[in-house]
Amino acid sequence: MKEYIIGIDLGGTNLRVAAITRDGEIIQKSESRSEVHRGREEVLGDVLKSVEEIQKSLQPKGWRPVAIGFGVPGLIKEGVVVQSPNFPDWDDFDLKAYLENHWNLPLWIENDANAAALGELWKGAGKESKHFCCLTLGTGVGSGIIVDGRILHGADGMAGEAGHMVVDPEGPPCGCGGYGCLETYASATGLERMSKEALRRGAFRGKLPDNVHELSAEDLHALAKAGDPEARQIFAQMGRYLGIGLANLIQIFNTELIILGGGVADSWEYFIPETEKQIQTRAYKALARRVKIRRALCGGDAGVLGAAYAALQGLRDLEENRRRRDERPWGRWILLDEGTNYKVKRLEVKPGQRLSLQKHQYRAEHWVVVEEGTAQITLDGNQMELHPNEATFIPQGGVHRITNPGSKPVVIIEVQYGTYLGEDDITRLQDDYGRAN
Ligand SMILES: [Zn+2]
Repeated sequence: MKEYIIGIDLGGTNLRVAAITRDGEIIQKSESRSEVHRGREEVLGDVLKSVEEIQKSLQPKGWRPVAIGFGVPGLIKEGVVVQSPNFPDWDDFDLKAYLENHWNLPLWIENDANAAALGELWKGAGKESKHFCCLTLGTGVGSGIIVDGRILHGADGMAGEAGHMVVDPEGPPCGCGGYGCLETYASATGLERMSKEALRRGAFRGKLPDNVHELSAEDLHALAKAGDPEARQIFAQMGRYLGIGLANLIQIFNTELIILGGGVADSWEYFIPETEKQIQTRAYKALARRVKIRRALCGGDAGVLGAAYAALQGLRDLEENRRRRDERPWGRWILLDEGTNYKVKRLEVKPGQRLSLQKHQYRAEHWVVVEEGTAQITLDGNQMELHPNEATFIPQGGVHRITNPGSKPVVIIEVQYGTYLGEDDITRLQDDYGRAN
């Protein structure tokens, strides 16, 4: 069967659900109004229904879902919505536990702005980069910071709230409780506030009806487009504070790329010159010179793509962890490091257990006992005891066995050299667990 990942993007306005392949191709998607005012249970009911519809329509065509990624606004800690300004009845809601009751698929929950950044990383303007910041300039300012191809999560998963970085200590109050946050300037709400202040000072006099006390971001855009100097002045002010914020991000993260999305980014030409000027004058020259500022490319699909990519990264981590550790009847091993011609493993042998009597044709091994147990080693018919900090060498073709005769686990660091063929290079001469080859 062909596999897909379900990406969910739940915003204050829209609910988008998409089926996406491991290569990032959207094979089906649905979009509806999120209608947050109806309450959490209703909204989640819509999410469950949309996912079910996609599954139902793809199943007869031979498609099978393998994971779900869910992007949701607010601070997310281990699947719990700690705080969500746009979804007040979601605060402290264990979204992961709720969804796991309904779905039997591995699930990853990500903040919506982080999901947008991941979408741009996977399929958009950040495809060529592993170090960038992605800011969504909408009603507020959402942001996701990509370091080494991964979202920066911080101690609790709540890092990257660049919208609430202080860019003006004497600035206006912000919805977060602070003052002078980037969001109070570089968002649609910020533009409206600045227009209100400008109107109060007597700006736009004679150009607008007297009963206009506030302009929307779209109104301002239209005025700026028509060449209005006062509208352009407001965008320049917005661009100035955006530039201050970006200079901070560039200094802290040595980011090579800034991606700007969201509706306010449509007014690009009116704010970007001032933004670039601030970056060039405030950030280190070496950092400012190399950074590129680009517009987001994924548009409305960024959230579903990024949510699916969060799930894909999670799946890959699980697969990698499984590959790196193995539980065996005698204990377990974990791969610590590997190169083209070596592997380093940590073996833990349970009390009273022994590995099979075996030999390898293509690899030699060094063993060191660490921690407190004592191992009994058999090599080509000879027996010896290996105490903590003692090592021995097992040459290619040497018939060997590790036994733990004690009452505590024995921990051995094993370095394997030569060609590694895994199970294919183990000849078992005797085995307590019935494995024969
Ligand atoms: Zn704030």
